[in-house]
Amino acid sequence: MLGEILDYNKLFVSRQKYKKYVLDKKPNKEIVIISCMDARLTELLPHALNMKNSDYVSITTAGAMIPHLFDSIMKSLIVAISQFDVKEILVIGHSDCGMDCLKTNDIYEQTNDVSFPEDFTDKYKSFLLNWLDGFNSYEENIISSMNMLKSHPLVPENILVHGLLINPETGELTLVASGEKH
Ligand SMILES: [Zn+2]
Repeated sequence: MLGEILDYNKLFVSRQKYKKYVLDKKPNKEIVIISCMDARLTELLPHALNMKNSDYVSITTAGAMIPHLFDSIMKSLIVAISQFDVKEILVIGHSDCGMDCLKTNDIYEQTNDVSFPEDFTDKYKSFLLNWLDGFNSYEENIISSMNMLKSHPLVPENILVHGLLINPETGELTLVASGEKH
């Protein structure tokens, strides 16, 4: 695909097709959406939420899972909060997700020949045995990601964190948990 992409890109720039995409750096709605990388959501999700590109910061990761306090998802989020004045976070999982019940071993079996370098320690090896695991419950996964966000020492307490599920065909949203204070 690369040659095709680069050829098109020359036309895109020379014909100034970028002009309709020029935006402010900060999102209009001060919101971050953490969702799955599933390609079905790329256009559907913002339209289903009545959001434009300029309205929100998008962080995508497999299954909208946030398994660690100090991984790259959390790093992106902390930067978004501090640089883009984010006030609200939506964690949006979706039905028919590839991470549903995924086991690390399923991926290893597809790659046929998994061999760990000799200098890999036992600690790394045991980590890699379940590193790619998915989740067993859509709702529990969303709640777990929300809890990870809310427990992070660098996420200010006044940031609202909501959890939702989206249908990747119809765009219908189901609220899993609201971050509104009652
Ligand atoms: Zn997914």
